[in-house]
Amino acid sequence: MSTDFDTNNLDAVKQKYQQERSKRLRADGARQYRGLSGQFATLIDDPYVQKADRQPITETVEALVVGGGFGGILAAARLREAGVEDLRIVERAGGFGGTWYWNRYPGAQCDVESYIYLPLLEELGYMPTQKYVYADEIREHVDRIVDHYELRPVAVFHTQVKEMHWQEEDKRWRVSTDRGDVFLARFVVTASGPLNVPKLPGIPGIESFKGKTFHTSRWDYDYTGGDEHGGLTGLADKRVAIIGTGATAVQVVPHVANSAKQLYVFQRTASGVDERNNSATDPEWFSSLQPGWQRERQTNFDRITGGHPLPEDHVSDGWTEKTRRVAERMAASGAAENMSPEAFEALEEELNLEKMNELRARILANVKDPAAAEALQPWYRYFCKRPCFHDEYLAAFNRPNTQLVDTDGKGVEQITERGLVVDGVEYEVDCVIYATGFMVVLSSSRKDGYKAYGRDGKYLEDQHAKGYRTLHSYMTDGFPNLFFISPAQGGQPYNFSQMLEVMSRHVAWTIAKVLSGGHESVEPSIEAVDRWVATIKSLAHDWQKFADGCTPGIYNGEGGTFTPESLAGLPYAGGASAFFELIEEWRETGGERDLVMARS
Ligand code: NDP
Repeated sequence: MSTDFDTNNLDAVKQKYQQERSKRLRADGARQYRGLSGQFATLIDDPYVQKADRQPITETVEALVVGGGFGGILAAARLREAGVEDLRIVERAGGFGGTWYWNRYPGAQCDVESYIYLPLLEELGYMPTQKYVYADEIREHVDRIVDHYELRPVAVFHTQVKEMHWQEEDKRWRVSTDRGDVFLARFVVTASGPLNVPKLPGIPGIESFKGKTFHTSRWDYDYTGGDEHGGLTGLADKRVAIIGTGATAVQVVPHVANSAKQLYVFQRTASGVDERNNSATDPEWFSSLQPGWQRERQTNFDRITGGHPLPEDHVSDGWTEKTRRVAERMAASGAAENMSPEAFEALEEELNLEKMNELRARILANVKDPAAAEALQPWYRYFCKRPCFHDEYLAAFNRPNTQLVDTDGKGVEQITERGLVVDGVEYEVDCVIYATGFMVVLSSSRKDGYKAYGRDGKYLEDQHAKGYRTLHSYMTDGFPNLFFISPAQGGQPYNFSQMLEVMSRHVAWTIAKVLSGGHESVEPSIEAVDRWVATIKSLAHDWQKFADGCTPGIYNGEGGTFTPESLAGLPYAGGASAFFELIEEWRETGGERDLVMARS
């Protein structure tokens, strides 16, 4: 590595991390981004399914689910199992799938093992074809779940919930949509996802570009040709810019590099890209798995990635590697049980440096141009950005038609009619692809989403004005029968679908309690919510410490400018697996004492 310091010198590396972080800190933090509004409003349209006319619906249902992604369909499935037959699902997209409906960019692939990521594999008897499957296979699995639980007939698509009002007199939510529907629902489960609003960078001149523009979550195959597996023949005579080098760009870049006449990749912060090592599923191994294997494997992964070494590492991939290494090193040192917290922290630091040095060395080994290899080096602690895994990303920069344009942490300077400017140089392009990610949406009710009004007309955003307020992330006081499936104040595991599955069961358990007790409404007591908020805040210093040490990004509020209010909206800092165990124990030990149930 052509750095002017010893990369095994932890202090020197830490200093470099701080320098790189400082370079990227901006006063406008998360406000630097803009939504897809104004002249960009059409970029958010559904490019996959045409919106069909339909008559408004007026109906009374037992439960209404907002969102038809994995969160929504798992909630609906678990409600069906809990005896709630009378369901309605409202979805903004033209079909089921949520993030997997929208993200059909070339190369879109699940970065967590399919055997734990794809829900209900045992129930549905499905064997994923590969350890890490691609988006089209994930969408097929979405359809499998939908058909198994007969959810298709109860869904309305291209429909957005606009308002929800709690009616105390009949203990129902009155839910209205942008298609003129009115649903009277006993229970409402919101599962609209924390990353469902695409964002654009606020680069000066962004409106002036005259060429083609789209966001990765609305891929325009009419323009690029090809499909999710590549073959983008429409780009053969095009000069293309990709802005962003996060987990999405890492999957997209190799395909565009293969097809475009010229590709410029505009980088602000490099991703750490480890090997993927995907493989086809061995049917013999798969059929040898014993009943209950999937839950066991998911829990094993959550516990290990939560920092608890276990004798057996079922998934055994890049995600679980860190804990494996800690355990091995502790065992080798003979310290095992007796290691002091200081010694443990030092070991973690050492391994973090070791991992990042490996990733940096991998870049040097795979990228031929020394300047590009240098610019692609990630200078931050492991896990400050979502780790990426890809076997073709780095090699793409060896192609003569592919150029990395590193912005030294500053981002693209300006966009003109013809192209993008960095360091005073204008790169003329025909097409700009924004791989710039999504707004982090904590609350399910928000300005550009729907508005929920609870008892006495209280607006949900006002409820959270002095800091997010829930019990276990899934309910809040004063908003009876309204459930949230969200990581805010709950679990945020690397295997996100595990959170959706656990919280769906938590919601279904609660609704089953209400129904079996002959009640009509449920909400957490104010005291229980206060206690949970205090728990979240008491652990928040761990997040603050992490945020302070990391380069800006979505994991640390774009630079760690947490206020006491925003800290309250973070996930449970004790770790996702600890949170899942905590709520299971709560259910098993009379958790309903924290709930207020009522009938008319
Ligand atoms: P990210 O938010 O992770 O990345 C956005 C990228 O845009 C970053 O590289 C960012 O740089 C860059 N950027 C922003 N503004 C500018 C600017 N002004 N100039 C230049 N570059 C800029 O979005 P992704 O779409 O990659 O990922 C979204 C989420 O989806 C993440 O949580 C990701 O982990 C997840 N994901 C999950 C997958 C899975 O398989 N489960 C697959 C793909 C994505 P900087 O880092 O400096 O901010």
